[in-house]
Amino acid sequence: MIRKEEIDKIIEGYDTSKIKIATICSHSALQLFYGARQEGFETIGICEKKRKETYEAFPLGKPDKFIMVDNFKDILDEKYTELLRKQNAIMIPHGSFVEYVGPENLENKFLVPIFGNRKTLEWEGSREKQKEWLGKAGLVLPKEFKNSSGINKKVFIKLSGAKGGKGFFTVSSKEELRKKLAERVNNGTIKKEDSNNITIQEFVSGVRYYIHYFYSPLYKNGTLAGEGRVELLSMDKRIEPIDESYRGLPEIPQEFFDYTVTGNQPIVIRESLLPELIKFGINVINTSIKLFPPGIIGPFCLETIYHPARGFITFEISARIVAGTNLYPQGSQYSCYIFNEPMSTGRRIAREIKQGIIRGELRKIIF
Ligand code: AMP
Repeated sequence: MIRKEEIDKIIEGYDTSKIKIATICSHSALQLFYGARQEGFETIGICEKKRKETYEAFPLGKPDKFIMVDNFKDILDEKYTELLRKQNAIMIPHGSFVEYVGPENLENKFLVPIFGNRKTLEWEGSREKQKEWLGKAGLVLPKEFKNSSGINKKVFIKLSGAKGGKGFFTVSSKEELRKKLAERVNNGTIKKEDSNNITIQEFVSGVRYYIHYFYSPLYKNGTLAGEGRVELLSMDKRIEPIDESYRGLPEIPQEFFDYTVTGNQPIVIRESLLPELIKFGINVINTSIKLFPPGIIGPFCLETIYHPARGFITFEISARIVAGTNLYPQGSQYSCYIFNEPMSTGRRIAREIKQGIIRGELRKIIF
C-alpha cells in the first residue's frame, strides 16, 4: 500500500504554480480535460495510439500533452510514473483507469498523487465491502440469496468478472439458473470458475436513477457532511441494450439481453424526492469517514431503482467520477443552483484542486 506520507512528500516537492491534471484518455477524459482547462490547469492525457484521433477531434477536450503508451497498463512503469511526477501531475481516477490498471496496482504500485482517497477504490471494488458501507449508511439494498436453493422469484445474476453489466441475466428458479449457467460455460460466454462466483440478487423492478454527488472537505457552506459539504451535481439514466426489450418486440434477440451501458440520458427527479437523496449523500459520506478515514473525497454515484411501494433501492456505488456526468460539460439542472457558472463534475474536481492549492490544503484531497 502506498503510504499517505510518501504522497505528501511528493506534493511538497511539487511546484504548485505548475500543477498539471492527468488522466487516461477514455471514459470521462474529454470532460476532465475541458473542466481542468476552464480552471486554468494544463493537462496530460495518457493515450493509446488507436484513441489519439478521437481526442484530436475535440480541440477543447483534448489534453495539452499526450503521453503515448502501447497499453494503458504500461502507466505503472516507473518510466511513466517518474515522468508524471516530474510534470507536477495529479492523476484523476475514472472507471476505465480503475478497470485497465486494477485497483490493487493503483493502491500498491502507482506512485503518483491521485485526487481522492486511494482506499476508496478497495471499498468500491468489493461487493461485500460495498454492502457493508451502504448498509451502514442506512440505504435499502436488493435482497441477496446465499445460494440457488432459496430462489423463489425472479432474480438477477451478477458475474464477478463482468464489467458494466456485460453477461448479466435473470432467472426465476434454481433449475433455470443451472441451465443458463451451463449454456454460457459451454458457449464460452463465461469461464467455468466464474460460474461458481456469482451474486444472486432479487430483481428489482422500477425506475432507475443514477445520482452524481460530490463531497468537498474544503467547502463548509451549504449542506454539511463530514468536515465539509455534500453537493448533488447531476443525475442520469443509463441506456442499456436490454431497454429495447420494452419496445414490445415480439421476439427479443438473445444478444439484447445485455445490461452493458451504451449511453446515458439526462434526467431530473420529482422535487419532493430530493430530500431523501440529499440524506443518502450525507450518510454515505459520514459512513465512509468512519469506515476508511478520511472517507470518500470528491465525486461518487449512487445507482438506484425507485420502486413505487418500497422507495429507493441502491444496487451499487461508483466511488469516483461516472461516465453519466459526461452529459453535463456545461453544468446541469442542479449544479446551476450551487454555482453561478457552468460546473461539470470534471470542472468541479479541478476547482477543488485549485482551492486546495490556494488554501494550502492539498493534503486533504490528494492521496
Ligand atoms: P451494475 O453493473 O451493478 O451497475 O448493473 C448493471 C445494470 O443491471 C444496471 O444499470 C441495471 O439496469 C441492472 N441491475 C443491476 N442490479 C439490478 C437488480 N438488483 N435488479 C434489477 N436490475 C438490476
